[in-house]
Amino acid sequence: MLSQKTRYAIRAMQHLADMHGKGPVQMVEIATVQRIPVTFLATILSELSRAGLVHSQRGKDGGYRLALSPIDISYGDLIRVMRGSLALVPCASRFAHEPCKNCLDEQDCRLRALMLEVRDRTAAVLDGVRLSDPIDPVPLVSGDSS
Ligand code: SF4
Repeated sequence: MLSQKTRYAIRAMQHLADMHGKGPVQMVEIATVQRIPVTFLATILSELSRAGLVHSQRGKDGGYRLALSPIDISYGDLIRVMRGSLALVPCASRFAHEPCKNCLDEQDCRLRALMLEVRDRTAAVLDGVRLSDPIDPVPLVSGDSS
C-alpha cells in the first residue's frame, strides 16, 4: 500500500498541476485544500524540490510550482521519488524488500513470482498516467459499461 507520505505527495503535486502556469502556490493553500499537515507538507515539498520536480520561490509572493510541465511527470515517477512500494508482499518490493516468516527459497516461490508480475503491471499503469491526465474521481466499476 502507498505510504501516507506518498499519498500526500501525490495530492500536493495534483494541486500544483491544477495551478500550473498561474504563478507560485503558497504552502498553506496546498495544506488547507488538500488537508495535509503543514509540517509534513514542508518535508514532502523539500524532497520533491531536491528531486527536481518542484521549484520554490522565497519572498512575499513566493511559493511552490512544478519544475516540469504536468505532462512530463507520471504517477510512477512520483511514487519512485517518494520511494513508495507498489508490491503486495514485502519480498516483491524494490525499496522495502524483506522476506516473510518461514520464507521459501525466493527463487522457488510461485507466490513471489506472481506478485512481481502484479508489481510490474501496476508500475506500467502508473507510468502511463501523467499529472496532466484527467482522472474521474468516480471510476467505472468492473462490468459497468455506462
Ligand atoms: S515465502 Fe514466497 S512470498 Fe513469502 S517471503 Fe518468501 S518468497 Fe516471498
